[in-house]
Parts: sequence; structure tokens; C-alpha cells
Amino acid sequence: MASVTLRIQSPPLNNDVVSLPRNHFPIVTFKTTFFGSSLTANGKPLSLPKTFRTQPVITSSSSSTHTFDVVIIGAGIIGLTIARQFLIGSDLSVAVVDKDVPCSGATGAGQGYLWMVHKEPESDTWDLTMRSYQLWQMFAEKVRAQGLDPLQELGWKRTGSLLVGRTAKEAATLKKKVKRLSEAGLRAEYLTSDALRLKEPELEVGKDGGAAFLPDDCQLDAQRAVAFIQKANRHFSTKGRYAEFFHDPVTGLLRSDSSSEVEGVRTFKNTLYSKKAVIVAAGCWSGSLVHDLFRESDILLNVPVKPRKGHLVVLENFSSFRLDHGLMEMGYVDHLHDALDRKSSHSVKVEEGQTLSVSMTATMDTMGNLVLGKFFVLLVP
Ligand SMILES: Cc1cc2nc3c(=O)[nH]c(=O)nc-3n(C[C@H](O)[C@H](O)[C@H](O)COP(=O)(O)OP(=O)(O)OC[C@H]3O[C@@H](n4cnc5c(N)ncnc54)[C@H](O)[C@@H]3O)c2cc1C
Repeated sequence: MASVTLRIQSPPLNNDVVSLPRNHFPIVTFKTTFFGSSLTANGKPLSLPKTFRTQPVITSSSSSTHTFDVVIIGAGIIGLTIARQFLIGSDLSVAVVDKDVPCSGATGAGQGYLWMVHKEPESDTWDLTMRSYQLWQMFAEKVRAQGLDPLQELGWKRTGSLLVGRTAKEAATLKKKVKRLSEAGLRAEYLTSDALRLKEPELEVGKDGGAAFLPDDCQLDAQRAVAFIQKANRHFSTKGRYAEFFHDPVTGLLRSDSSSEVEGVRTFKNTLYSKKAVIVAAGCWSGSLVHDLFRESDILLNVPVKPRKGHLVVLENFSSFRLDHGLMEMGYVDHLHDALDRKSSHSVKVEEGQTLSVSMTATMDTMGNLVLGKFFVLLVP
């Protein structure tokens, strides 16, 4: 997810601060199917992602004015990671402000796949994706070098990924994809239906199907990764360089009367001045937030970040079968590339002229839960 930086000017420094309450998700129960297999919770509740369990280390302050070098809007994985980079890579002071708490946005809902199997070499985002992929691998190695276990700290697993097709047409596309990914320098292999059964015995794709297999693709647990990053950030709070303002939505920009330069942000409870920059890392809210912040100015800023519909279901302590790899249906790639074949097996006609495309992903997380992702695209003529 992108972030936006607004360049700034001065005021005085005075930072102590903050709050960090907990976030609760509802428990839901139901039955679903995946790749033709019937999955039930065996009467156990299925839950949306775990609550964010870090306890507050800094206590809440009443409404007040504070000044930092950098103010970051959004405490998702992006906002907290940007904060981390400033804290370890400079001597700047940083505040992170969120309307809720970390993991209340997309980060808390994410499956944590760090996958290249569904990416396309030479696409607009390829270089950025490769860089991000490498940085996460380096981060996990750094954690290991500190004598810590990336599995425990980040939920880090090198599961490998399988992009699965069920028809001869999809199999042909997958073979070409494997070739392109190999040429781009990744370890990639095409698995026929029989070879796939050896790798993932519970997965049935039919005799014409197959899969692209990337053995180096990984996954992490976003909640653990965020808690790890946040804990490291908080070491800097004792030096007066880091503060968190949670449950405190940003409501407006502070701008200089004389030059109109952005000087900071107004939140529901506080006034936060920034000497260097305000960074918008508000995930899918970034576009609407920037629009609102500049509503009364003559500046037109278009941040092209759009939400996409999806559901994530976690079947806790799932024991009916095991998955050894991360799985993704070919239809997911079609969604991403916006080139869906309306007659594909992933599409369902919902109304005259409208087709709903549904595709799924599945994996087992570090806790032994089965994590199912489901994505929808409504195609209109
Ligand atoms: C179901 C699902 C599955 C996914 N699976 C994967 C995956 O497997 N792999 C992968 O790489 N990506 C995945 N993603 C995408 C990934 O989760 C996101 O790209 C990533 O978490 C975005 O992080 P972020 O910090 O930009 O946004 P967010 O985590 O959404 O954080 C934005 C924060 O901004 C705050 N905010 C918004 N408005 C304001 C305001 N006015 N004032 C203060 N704070 C505000 C919000 O409260 C929120 O905490 C998935 C997403 C979903 C929804």
C-alpha cells in the first residue's frame, strides 16, 4: 500500500504521550467449500483474525499539543515500518497516529503471503514487489541473526506457494508463467496434476489441471510482525523520539497563515506539529483522507488508492486435513490483471449482464489454523 508525504515547516518540541487499547473482532460461524472440499469447523467457532494483544506501554494523555520531526498517519504495517526506518536510520522524532489501533485496518485482515507466484515480470509493479520481497527476507534473516526465531517473532514460514489451475487452458497459462518467472530469476516449477498430488495430497484439481510452484515464497503472521516492529519502535519512546496516538482520528491539517505550508495535523484529541513531514499511510483510506484534508484548499491531490472487496476466514485449530503450502486459484491472478474471462470457472452470473468473479486462497498459519481468503470482482459490461 502506498504512502503519501506532505512536506512541512517548524514549531517547538515537547513529546511524552499516548494510548493503546485493544481491538475486538466478532466471532462468526458457518460452513464453506474450497476446491470442492467441504470444510466445517467441527462445531468450533470460526473467527476473523486474532485480536491485537500488545498491552499499552505508554499511558494516555489528555488533549494537548505536541511537536515531532515526522508525523505518520496510520499505524498499519506501512505506517509502523516507516516509523521504524526513521527511528533506526536517523535521529528524527516520530509520532504515529491512528483512528483506531494497529491491525484494525487491512494489516489485521491480511493473510501475510509474501508471494511472487501471482506477480508478472516486467509489469509496472514488478521491481517494487521484488524489492519488497527481498527486504522481508532480509528482515527475517536479521531477526535470526539477533538469536531470535523468525517463526516465533514474525510467524515466518517458507511454505512455498502453488498457483492452481483446473483446466487445460489454465495449465497452459501456468506453464508460460513458470517460464517467465524462471527467466526473471526466481526458482519456479510447473507441476502436473500427478506431481501436484504428491506435493499437496488433499488438493484435487482434475486430470487437466496443474500448478505453478515457487518453493521460496513465504508467509508471515501480520499481527506478530506488527507487534515485533511496534515493540522495537517503543524502545525509542524513552529517548523522547517515538510516540503513538491511538483512537485519535486525524481530522484536519495545520497550515501556516502566511505561506499555507503544512505544519502538522489536528486530531480528534490533539494537535500534532511536524517539523519535517506529515506522512499519510492510511491504507485504503489514504485517497479519501487526502481529499478531505485538502477539501478547503485550492490544491487538488488525487491519491489513486482504491479498496477491494475480500473476506478472510480463519478456521481455528483445523484438523480435518493439512495443507503444506500456500494455495491460490488462477482466478485471483485474473482479478489482479483485470483480464477475467467471463466464462471462466471462477465466474458466476448474478444478473443480466453482470458477472461475479470469486476466487480463493488457502494456507495453514503458525497456530495450525486454516486461513481462507476469498476475493470478489463484479464485472459489468
Ligand atoms: C483480506 C485481505 C487479505 C490480504 N492478504 C494479503 C497477503 O496475503 N499478502 C500481502 O502482501 N497483502 C495482503 N493484503 C493486503 C495488505 O494487508 C495491505 O496491503 C497492507 O496491510 C496495507 O497496510 P497499510 O498499513 O497500508 O494499511 P492498513 O493496515 O489498512 O492501515 C491503515 C491505518 O490507517 C488508519 N487510518 C485511516 N484513516 C485514518 C485517519 N483519518 N486518522 C488516523 N488514522 C487513520 C486506519 O485505522 C489503519 O489502522 C490483504 C488484504 C486483505 C484485506
